[in-house]
Amino acid sequence: MSAKLIDGKALSDSVKAEVAERVLALKKRGIVPGLAVVLVGSDPASQVYVRNKAAACEKAGLHSRVIRLAADITEPELLNTVHELNNDDAVHGILVQLPLPAHMNANKVIEAIAASKDVDGFHISNAGLLMTGQPLFRPCTPYGVMKMLESENIVLRGAEAVVVGASNIVGKPMAMLLLAAGATVTLCNSKTRDLGAQTRRADVLVVATGKPKMIDGDMIKPGAVVIDVGINRGADGKLVGDVDFQSAQAVAGAITPVPGGVGPMTIAMLLVNTLEAAERSAASSVTEH
Ligand code: NDP
Repeated sequence: MSAKLIDGKALSDSVKAEVAERVLALKKRGIVPGLAVVLVGSDPASQVYVRNKAAACEKAGLHSRVIRLAADITEPELLNTVHELNNDDAVHGILVQLPLPAHMNANKVIEAIAASKDVDGFHISNAGLLMTGQPLFRPCTPYGVMKMLESENIVLRGAEAVVVGASNIVGKPMAMLLLAAGATVTLCNSKTRDLGAQTRRADVLVVATGKPKMIDGDMIKPGAVVIDVGINRGADGKLVGDVDFQSAQAVAGAITPVPGGVGPMTIAMLLVNTLEAAERSAASSVTEH
């Protein structure tokens, strides 16, 4: 058996095309959705991510502004930049690229972003809204995974879903979204005993650990849907996921590739979140006047 490939690139293209149409509709009303991306320092991976996000915005007709700050900027200076963006009506979404330099408190910086502009969905009030079943912004990566599952018509109600990795930006919100969709969710971390016993129960297995190829075919239930969030660069410079694609593909029913799986969806959902922030802001200015 060879698993069906879930093509994140193709799905992301169709999501972006939908975004572009809705952007046009907003532009007809004189509103250009705007994303501000703040990049502190010159981390090479972050630079690539920021460039890709800005390019995707421009392509879909959104306005993007990249604010590049020196690595030695102080935390108050960064907070000041965030406050300015909070008060800028042309900016509907604000994203501070992580990781931040070690002298900064990332939580404090994220909490400074207006929750209504927090398109990454990392602000504590957006995390709380998600947890209580009233999401405003869903974090882009798990949101993209949900979109992929939906596009493949995967039934989540009553399904066993196992998420490996419990970070605030991927694993935890992923678990919340799956739970909200009616799945029975197991959330694993690095302390989980007998990980294979957990993963082998999964109808839907989402892996986000940052440990290259740590899940192999022996850890997967035959026919399961396997979503590989991991992005790791091998010694040869090639990207590999957290799942051993070759052995997993022989067992799974459907699987995402790396690259070309979850990665492109993350950017597409950032555009969706920014567009929706602009739509909400347009709706609230109509009701205010
Ligand atoms: P973090 O390092 O923040 O979290 C990793 C999580 O995995 C932790 O909860 C950790 O457990 C858990 N973990 C680590 N080793 C094991 C193990 N052996 N068994 C079980 N659990 C383990 O990573 P992120 O969530 O930020 O990212 C995870 C991966 O996803 C990375 O490869 C990253 O590059 C990728 N990523 C991809 C994105 C995309 O767009 N496709 C977006 C964001 C991330 P513990 O809590 O116990 O430490």
